[in-house]
Order: sequence, then structure tokens, then C-alpha cells
Amino acid sequence: MTSGQSGSLFPEIEAEQRRLAEDPAKNDHPEAGGHWLVEVALKVPLPQTFHYKVPLPLRQTVTIGQRCQVPFGRRNLTGFIVGLPTETDIPEPKLRVLSDIIDKDAVFNEEMLELCQWLSHYYASPLAEVLEVALPKSVIREWKRRKMLRPDSILTRTDTLTEGRVGSGATKILDILEKRPEGVALENLMEAAGVARGTVRRCISRGWVVAKNPDDEDETVLSELETKPVLTDEQSVAVTALKKDLDDKLFSASLLFGITGSGKTEVYLRVIEHGLALGRGAIVLVPEIALTPQTTRRFRARFGGHVAVLHSKLSDYERWKAWQRVKKGEANVVIGPRSALFAPVQNLGLIVVDEEHESTYKQERSPRYHARDAAVLRAKRLNAVVVLGSATPSLESFQNALAGRYRLLRLMKRAGAGRLPKVQIVDMGAEWREVRGMPLISRQLARLVRESLERGERAILFLNRRGFTTYLHCPQCQYVHKCSHCDIALTYHKKKDIVLCHFCAERFKVPTKSCPECHGPPLKHKGAGTERIEEVCQKVFPMAKIERIDSDTVRSGEGVEVKLGRFRRGEVDLLIGTQMIARGLDIPEVTAVGIINADTSLGHPDFRATERTFQLIAQVAGRAGRGQLEGRTIVQTFNPAEPSILAASKHDYDTFAMREIPARKMLGYPPFGRLLHLLVRDENQQKAESEADRLVDYLKARLPEDCRILGPAISPRAYLANKFRFQALIKAPTPSAIQSIMMDAMDFKSNTNVEVILDRDPAYLM
Ligand code: ADP
Ligand code: ZN
Repeated sequence: MTSGQSGSLFPEIEAEQRRLAEDPAKNDHPEAGGHWLVEVALKVPLPQTFHYKVPLPLRQTVTIGQRCQVPFGRRNLTGFIVGLPTETDIPEPKLRVLSDIIDKDAVFNEEMLELCQWLSHYYASPLAEVLEVALPKSVIREWKRRKMLRPDSILTRTDTLTEGRVGSGATKILDILEKRPEGVALENLMEAAGVARGTVRRCISRGWVVAKNPDDEDETVLSELETKPVLTDEQSVAVTALKKDLDDKLFSASLLFGITGSGKTEVYLRVIEHGLALGRGAIVLVPEIALTPQTTRRFRARFGGHVAVLHSKLSDYERWKAWQRVKKGEANVVIGPRSALFAPVQNLGLIVVDEEHESTYKQERSPRYHARDAAVLRAKRLNAVVVLGSATPSLESFQNALAGRYRLLRLMKRAGAGRLPKVQIVDMGAEWREVRGMPLISRQLARLVRESLERGERAILFLNRRGFTTYLHCPQCQYVHKCSHCDIALTYHKKKDIVLCHFCAERFKVPTKSCPECHGPPLKHKGAGTERIEEVCQKVFPMAKIERIDSDTVRSGEGVEVKLGRFRRGEVDLLIGTQMIARGLDIPEVTAVGIINADTSLGHPDFRATERTFQLIAQVAGRAGRGQLEGRTIVQTFNPAEPSILAASKHDYDTFAMREIPARKMLGYPPFGRLLHLLVRDENQQKAESEADRLVDYLKARLPEDCRILGPAISPRAYLANKFRFQALIKAPTPSAIQSIMMDAMDFKSNTNVEVILDRDPAYLM
């Protein structure tokens, strides 16, 4: 940021400012015309906004939506102008003067401001923090133009001969690239050569190496215009209804509940197309992991240059450019994760939230907003249409549909040739009794995969855990080897030969000698992650060409898309992966899918544990049988009678929901009650505990009727990143009851020196 220190962006104003500095008396007339006061939101841990006096030369220029520089204490801070009040309670001597404005034009408009104000109030987060989420960082930071190097930029060697001094880092880079003519991703190159980004940049500036970003084609308008399929009857009903809503220019909210492969995306495309014809733009939210080139290609093929994709790997410059294109109206279909909801689309007519049940729509740091709920709100305020799509809707959305608040649009059949796969449950307890040696892959699953591969088809094995073994344990004293900063068992990674904390990423040496607790025998490796499944598969399916996709292989190898490309083309026939492959994959040749362990989230102390289990099985199973060929899925579990697993294996959402909904109702959990999760954390255990007690007492004394407070209790994650954690949960019948409790909690928060985190409508209770 250059303004502030080095003067105003506008020379005329600067000159005027200098003249006035010589005659400060002139600065003080409220009647001098223009705006003499501004209301500023600042990123400080206080809930309120602040008034500043505007110096005369800026009075005609200030407007809502600009960023500004203001004195605060002894610092100079950047803030957002959120109001132009005409009077203030602050007495003149205390009223401080705005130092400068940063933007000539507003970076947000009133609609955005009101949305952010609402979210700030609802989630009790400072307004400036919400505005920061709404504006891309690159706009906030005023990006400096640099060569767009991203972690996934592909670097290749040029023909330019090296001359002059070539450092040892550069030599390593050139050696590696010499051997890899297809290029290497920046992050891998840096790791392999052991060099910093600057060394790579120097090689580029000397012309020895060139960088290309995987989606550089974004700029060109793809016109591989695919032929539009004839809509199925079910799709037609949905499209007709949604088009009419757009015509009527009224708010409507619909739940598009369509099984995997039923053609929900085609519905979005048709409705967006209709909106564009009416001059109305669209936002399509997708979970970050589903934001693959396969998804975006379909939108680009239909809408070409109208599309702007906002994914997390964009460089600041690319993000800034995309945001500008949207703001100017050059792009009016925005696709992106959670924060794309705030895109400044002109004349926004439609918001789609695809895979609306995904918990990644909830931000797990302040502001802890839920993008799905915020999408409904934004659509309502704009008289726009919102469509929530899912094969496994959240119970919140399903209940909203049952209660008539959302229109329910169902797609019960697969759109193209595909049929839902047959799902078989394998009881791993029985398998372990029958087969000695506790196999990770049951005989049934091995047979299914083998048969598919023999027919030249493809298979996917899914396990929601990375690493080799998932914990180390002493068979004598039951000691579990944990991270020294967190109360979390360490995972063994065989290739790197380390144990790793999956929470704080700290690495430790693998203990090989006796148990550190009882000094008995060495620790035993337990549990299985994807790395171990890969090793097992190499033995069980010796002819298979295997690929593993999880955050380990993606970080230290090629990107997901390169790996998926090989699978799609059939160069790989067995894919092993974590949730990175659970969603959205649409590959017709996949006929066998195995879920190695369906129980991973069942044991969590969370009322959504069964819902997550159901969603996971239904979504993963949905990867099979998407083409002409029949697909089959095997679910391995130690809980073969668990109702959520049984229902998922029959693709029977309704049975699952009808069982789950009354239970939630009885216990006052969402969608029937509202929750507020409170977390108190501190490095000092006693302080954290006693302040948690004090917080709960404070709230109990003020608790509205019909509300309940559970706890305080030690968090299921008692110790993370060197901090002790205590929690409480509040159940209230209405949003307004939660709001009043939140206000009390905020009062308490301003009078304690421990961290208190308020999470309204929490996604997780840990
Ligand atoms: P979903 O998003 O519901 O999982 P998709 O939109 O990905 O489903 O559609 C699944 C497959 O069916 C895709 O390959 C898509 O091209 C195809 N498809 C969608 N609609 C039709 C249709 N009306 N006729 C034929 N094929 C279709
Ligand atoms: Zn840790």
C-alpha cells in the first residue's frame, strides 16, 4: 500500500491539502459543503464503527464504498467508508481527521454494504472483517503487477543458452527441467531443487525458463460449443419453473434435489442462459474441491467469455482482473467457492449453490458465515432466484422444502444412459473373523475390482484418511503417540518416514524404541490411510495401473487434474483417494467403487455424524455407473446395521430423512432449534476452564426462556496448537433468542482476557 504515507492518489487534492495546512482554520466549517463527516469500519476487535472529520479538500470526493486511511490510537489504519452522517456525538476536540482516501471510486456499493452489515450483525463479526471477505484480497492490497507465478504454474526449459554466472540453485533447476520436457509445477520444482521462488524468477527473467499457468486459456473464448442435450421431463419441469421466476423478477428459493448424475448442472446452464437473455447475471457456488476444470469447462463451453472463474489458485493479479471484468459487466456468470457469493455481478438474477449440503460453505474462521444461508439472503434482497442443488440435501434445506419455504424440484432418474449403482454392504467384523490377518480389502471388494479391471473398465477406492497408519499405540499400557502441541494422534507417513500432526502439520521422528510411557515394547502401528491402501493394492491387484490422489500426493507431485486426466484417458485404471475424489467425478468407464471404511465420521460426537455418513456413501457410490455400463459399489463397515449406512446403500434419502428429522426435533437440534457454539481457549488450562465456567454462569443468569445451555465441558479436541479448549453449546428455539444470547456473550468477551469464539449455526461441534 503506497497511499497514506506517500500522499494522496490525486495531485489536485494534494495541492489543495497543502494550501489548507497553512491555514488550518478553513478546515473546520461543517457548512463548507460536501460531507464533513464519515463513518468508518475498521478491522479492530471492537463491534462499533467510528466517526472522522473530513478535511475540506476531500469533502466533495468522499463516498460510501471507498477505502480510507485514518488515525487510530497511535497508528494509521486502513478502513472502509460505510456512512456519511451529518452529526456526531463525539465532541469536537476528540473528533479525529480522516488522513486520506485510497480509492477514487467505491469498491463496494450499498447493496453489498447492507448485505455485509447484516452478516456482521448476525455472526457478531466486525463489519470491516466481513467487508474484507467480500472484497478479494487483491483489491484490498492493490496488487502489484508481477509475473503471475502460482504454485501450480508449469515451468519448462527454453532453448536459450545459459551465459554468465549460473548459481547452484539455477543449475539444479535447469538440470531438473532438462529431464522433464513436459514441465514441472512451481511448488514441486522448488521442493525438488531446494530453491526459493526468487531463484525460479531469476531463471525466468534471464530467459532460461518459461512459466505457463494451467488455465491460461481462460483468456481465450472457448467455442467448442457442445450440443445441448434434450432435457428429460424432470429437468424440463425444473427449468420451466425457474425460468418463470426469472421472468417474474421475484425472489424465489428452490431446492433442486436430484440424484447423482441426474443432470442438475444442465438445469443450471439452461436457467443461466435464460437469465442472460433477460440481461441478468448469475453466480454459481461450488465447493472448492469440486471446482475442477471439468466443471468450469462446461460453463465456458456454453457461455464463453461471459464466465469468470474465481478459484483459490488464482494469483492476486488474475483475481483482481476477474473481479474488474465482473464489476464492469464484461463477465456476468461467476463460478467460485464460498466467497464468490460477494462477486459484484451486475443485475444479479440467479444464485446457484451446488452441493448445498457441503460444510465447506461455512467459513471456519471469523466471520463464520454460511455461504448458502447468505446466498438466500442476498437473493431475497435483490428479488433474485436462488437454487440449492444436491443429491443429498442438508436436513435444514430439506425441512425448509417440506415446510414450503423452498420449492422442491426433484430429479429421480439419471439423465443420460447411466443408472444408479447396486450397493453391497460388507460386514468387516465378519470378514475379520473369517479371514485371518484382518484384511483392509475384503474378498468381495477385491473380486469386484478385479472383475472390472479384467473387463478393461475402471475402479475407485475411497478412504477419508491420508498417511500410512493413522496412529501408534502401545499394546501394553494403551499409550497413544500424540502431537506435543495438540491432543491429536500422529499419523505415520511411510514414504517420508515421519509421523505428522494433521492439525498443526508438525513433523516428528518415528519412535522405534520402547514405549515412552511404560518403557515396554515398541509402539504398534494401527489404522490405515490411503498410502497403505495403495501399497496393499499393488499386492492384491498386481496388473493394475494405480494412482493415488490425496493432499500428500498432490502437494509433492502433479496437480489433481493431471492425475485425473490419466484416469479419464484410461492410462490409470485404479484410483485411490480421499474426499478430493468423492465429488463431481463423471467418468463413464468407472464400474467399481469401494468405500474402504464407511465408519470414519460415525463416532464423532456431533449430531450430524449420521448425516455425514449418509452423504459420504451416497456421493461416493454415485461415481459408479455413470455411462452405459452397470456400476457396483461396496461399502465396508463394522456397523452393517447402522440405519444411515443401510439407507445410503439403497439410495434412499427419504427413509434416512424421515428417521433423522423426528430425532432432531425431539432434541431441539437444527433444523428445529438454533445453535450457538462457544469455545474458550487459552494456553493456561486453569484460566481457560475458570473463564468458561464464568462465561456459562454469566449467560445462565440472562438466558431467555426456552433456551438451554450445555456445558461447559472439555472440548473433544481438548488441546490444539498449544491451547486448552473448553466449550459450551446453546440451544434456542428461535434466531432472535440466539441473537440476544450472542449480545451477552459479546459483553462477556470484552471483559475477559481469554479467547472466546462465538460460532452461530455451527457446522461442527468440536
Ligand atoms: P449432476 O450434476 O446431477 O450429478 P450432471 O449434470 O453432471 O449431473 O449430468 C450427468 C451426465 O448426464 C453428464 O454427463 C451430462 O452431460 C449428462 N446429461 C445431463 N442432462 C442430460 C440429458 N437431458 N440428456 C442426456 N444426457 C444428459
Ligand atoms: Zn499438532
